[in-house]
Amino acid sequence: MIPSSRRFNFPLPASSVTISQQISESANQRISESANQRIGESASQRIGESANQRVSESASQRISESANQRISESANQRISESASQRISESANQRIGGPTDSVKHPRPRRQTGPRITHPASSFQLPASSPQHPASDPPWEPGYRHLHCSGELAERARVALAALARCALCPRGCGVDRLNGGRGACGVGADPVIASWNVHPWEEPPISGTRGSGTIFFSGCTGKCRFCQNYPISQFGYGNRVSIERFAEMMLELQGRGCHNINFVTPTHFAPQILAAVDVAAAQGLHIPLVYNTSGYETIPALRRLEGVVDIWLPDAKYADDATARRISGFAGYVAHNRAALREIYRQVGDALILDAAGIAHRGMIIRHLVLPEGLAGTAEVLRWIAQTLSPRVHVSLMDQYFPAYKVLDDPALGRKIRPEEYAAALDAFEAAGLENGWMQEYDETCGLDQV
Ligand code: SF4
Repeated sequence: MIPSSRRFNFPLPASSVTISQQISESANQRISESANQRIGESASQRIGESANQRVSESASQRISESANQRISESANQRISESASQRISESANQRIGGPTDSVKHPRPRRQTGPRITHPASSFQLPASSPQHPASDPPWEPGYRHLHCSGELAERARVALAALARCALCPRGCGVDRLNGGRGACGVGADPVIASWNVHPWEEPPISGTRGSGTIFFSGCTGKCRFCQNYPISQFGYGNRVSIERFAEMMLELQGRGCHNINFVTPTHFAPQILAAVDVAAAQGLHIPLVYNTSGYETIPALRRLEGVVDIWLPDAKYADDATARRISGFAGYVAHNRAALREIYRQVGDALILDAAGIAHRGMIIRHLVLPEGLAGTAEVLRWIAQTLSPRVHVSLMDQYFPAYKVLDDPALGRKIRPEEYAAALDAFEAAGLENGWMQEYDETCGLDQV
């Protein structure tokens, strides 16, 4: 077994050595700084920062979304009375006492980690950054589509299709334009739970200035372990106009974010097209990241072709029955694999980085390792390597912790064990994958081992 710090550090192609070395040095420096910082920080510091950030987010949201204040108050009340109580009584108690996060838990990536990776827990840069942004200066694809009018037309068609919604594989067929609600629980207006600078995605996404995450309420999935359940399942968030949604992107760009990162976006894809068109007219020019569960339809993905610059799809499961039982996804494996093939068709296996190591285009597949092998990790990784390409970048995550409905679940009611993550890393190598990131195994992940 090779040391974990070397696991994904594969040799670079000779043709890209010079550029890659520069990028690698830069990335490693950041990782080193980040690791040192992590060592120096205590868990309570991280929690404190997170809580302050959340308070700030919450306050600014309330100010900017006064029209929806009543909705927000109602949602907050529900969260305070139900979700937060469970968090308080379980996970957060283990942190060592309640914090502000009890009332407004920082949303986490839905895979689990839709949002929050433990601070800077990703290690090691991709082994093969491809080439820098260059000559002529790189420009995201949506800008061309905006200028030609195609983006507006795609948005128009996509929004009209909400009259009989089949955006995701659930195919509810409800009229979301006239009050109908399907399994995702949302209608025609975007509902946004938070938007902020996020420093803890994979290094090419968060870079040095953070990723501009926008978290949508509702979800096409029903993950029993969802760490963002107040948002995804209880609908916490504010209804906003397309214009306000566009302003959020511009605000994040103004704060220096490397990209706009749409988190759990599937059920709002038409609204995203419309808002990006508005924002592009006002100067939006940074890459768009599509951070999805991977439960997608091909038509929906094709409508996003050339609009999304960086795809962050999950590959959650290798078994349909498990996917249905734990996450409520019907036919997940077939839909997920078809989606991954389509994304691969659009962007291939090259992750295009600029000279500073920040991603401009490509795909990173995320896989969250679950206890008891429930995610089918080895099979998922083998499929990616054999069906797509061994050069596809894979982010292998260890940050699962029990939340929502699985606190007392015999299998899912605990974090993964070190040996389970080690087995996942072995599976990565056995599959022949060449690029990716591991997470530094954090036994607590902010929580004590159950
Ligand atoms: S996006 Fe929502 S309403 Fe539309 S098909 Fe999916 S779950 Fe149903």
